[in-house]
Amino acid sequence: MTRPGVDRERLLKRLHARIRACTKCVDAGYLERARPIVAGSIRDRIAIVGQAPGAVEMTVGQPFSGRSGAELRRWLGEAGIDEDHLPYRTAITKCFPGKSPSGSGDRRPSPAEIALCRPWLDQELALLRPKVVLLVGGLAIDRFWGRVPLEAAVGRSRVKDGITYIPVPHPSGASRWLNDAAHRELLRKGLAHLRRAAQALDRQPSGRTMRVPRRKSAPLPFRVALSKVRGREEVITEMPKKKKAAKKKH
Ligand code: SF4
Repeated sequence: MTRPGVDRERLLKRLHARIRACTKCVDAGYLERARPIVAGSIRDRIAIVGQAPGAVEMTVGQPFSGRSGAELRRWLGEAGIDEDHLPYRTAITKCFPGKSPSGSGDRRPSPAEIALCRPWLDQELALLRPKVVLLVGGLAIDRFWGRVPLEAAVGRSRVKDGITYIPVPHPSGASRWLNDAAHRELLRKGLAHLRRAAQALDRQPSGRTMRVPRRKSAPLPFRVALSKVRGREEVITEMPKKKKAAKKKH
């Protein structure tokens, strides 16, 4: 008999293999080349949903590995999540859509491409069952939060069906949204939500998502104290009782 976690792990690996073999957008004439990018394991409790991989991601084969990814990882670092504990990483569409016709940034995937790719994301999230979903950029926010201006979503968090959704803007340098100080403040609030959500996960027994805090010298618990006995240390389980002051004899 196999354990449920092992089964889910195997199913996720199988799903990743099917996603990586997908050519639906090429077959439909939307892309010249398909190279679906996705990464993560069944143990991840935080999932990042971005818009689509960029040219660097397509070359490297890893999500969020380009310049935008570096900025996103910096944001994750601010929320206490380090490179060794990167969450599950996926996107609304999983292939590089090409450069935007305006020359500024990447092309936004079309509604038809989003619809073709949607079943993959649905299956990933159904298997993964993340506790926290970080929504990176307008397309992910549209899908999971609702179609609202960025400033109406970033800086907030929402729990639905046991999943905490946290929207952040796209970290692309092509976006001017973060040039506004009020918007940067909203991002800071959003990252604070992420930090709190990740800390709450770390308090659960099933794993760690945050960087390990530096060990401080903790005070000894009340009922444990060290005592020097004949030149060696021994652990005693009671605080030594104070000797009563000898009563003065009159
Ligand atoms: S974007 Fe999604 S649906 Fe389109 S080819 Fe890539 S993996 Fe398949």
